[in-house]
Amino acid sequence: MQTRLVVIQPTSLCNINCRYCYLPQRNLNNRISDATLEQIFKALFVSSSFLDGRVTCVWHAGEPLVLSTAFYRRAFAIQQKWNSAGIAIINSFQTNATLITQEWCDFILEQHVRIGVSIDGPQFLHNAQRVDWANHGTFERVMRGIQLLKANNIPFSVISVVTGETVLYPDEFWHFFMEVRPTRLGLNPEEVEGCNTQSSLHTPAGMQRYQQFLKHLLVLNEQSDNPLPIREIDTILRRIKAGRLAPQVETNTAAAILNFDTKGNISTFSPELLSVTHPTYGSFTLGNVFDTPLEQIFTHEKFIKMNTDIQKGIERCRESCEYFLLCGGGAPSNKLYENGTFDSTETNACRLRIKLTSDMLLDYLEQKYYLSAS
Ligand code: SF4
Repeated sequence: MQTRLVVIQPTSLCNINCRYCYLPQRNLNNRISDATLEQIFKALFVSSSFLDGRVTCVWHAGEPLVLSTAFYRRAFAIQQKWNSAGIAIINSFQTNATLITQEWCDFILEQHVRIGVSIDGPQFLHNAQRVDWANHGTFERVMRGIQLLKANNIPFSVISVVTGETVLYPDEFWHFFMEVRPTRLGLNPEEVEGCNTQSSLHTPAGMQRYQQFLKHLLVLNEQSDNPLPIREIDTILRRIKAGRLAPQVETNTAAAILNFDTKGNISTFSPELLSVTHPTYGSFTLGNVFDTPLEQIFTHEKFIKMNTDIQKGIERCRESCEYFLLCGGGAPSNKLYENGTFDSTETNACRLRIKLTSDMLLDYLEQKYYLSAS
């Protein structure tokens, strides 16, 4: 078992209150302590054999910049103190960008932190969902943060949640991100997860519009000299061209992702399972760094049940789904929150992310090569 991604929740608090957010505790000011960080990094770097060569450490599941640069200076020093094997560590913040200041930019440059910004498109789309606790849109504050990143030549990727409204405006969306110019644009079709119990895309019309939206972005990209790298399109295209099984899916592989909350509770599989609960499983905590060696979580009764159900679900996908080659069996959190069990197959999330996207791309490629050949 190799861990490639470590997700640490430095605080559960978020300074804003997006309407589709899945995190139930984003109004609570829980913060991770130095003692907990010591235990996490000791467990990861010294007491376990999960890391090999390099690891990405994402500070997430609350707004990471709610904490100070002084906190992260300490946290990164603790991280290095326990990293006696010299593992290459990439630290990364997934941030709403509203709290970025020149001090943060200096810190990001000094510590080589990777930045992912969450922004949903032009002002009218962004402010429809990404509001603060007083219900005010956050667009201007996000753009101020982005301008600071740009002024400091800090590259950043973007994650944009796509809703039933977004898909009505592909031109506006594409032109906006051509201006913002992230290193990569990730599209997250709105999901049913945690405390977000509905998705504006999970209707037949929403699905169809999402597919048309993606196709429109693809056409705009093809007409451009400098196309936007769009993660959802590029990933599936790469897999179609490779023509072999999708690489191992980290979210459904035990230990590929390790998640730690502010109290040192440990989970694995989809990071979205950190700090949420479900009627069948309760919480997804498999132990705590203060009393459970990492290896031991894989003998935990709850892990065995989760893993058995997840692997059964993947097998059922492999046997029944013609898209398995491009997918690898889907994200457990989507299966659980949509179908009520990990031991299941199709979800609206996989229809959007895999099936409709692949169909659109295959149609598009067929037409393109048919026209160029005729
Ligand atoms: S596309 Fe859906 S049904 Fe098919 S393999 Fe992926 S998760 Fe399973």
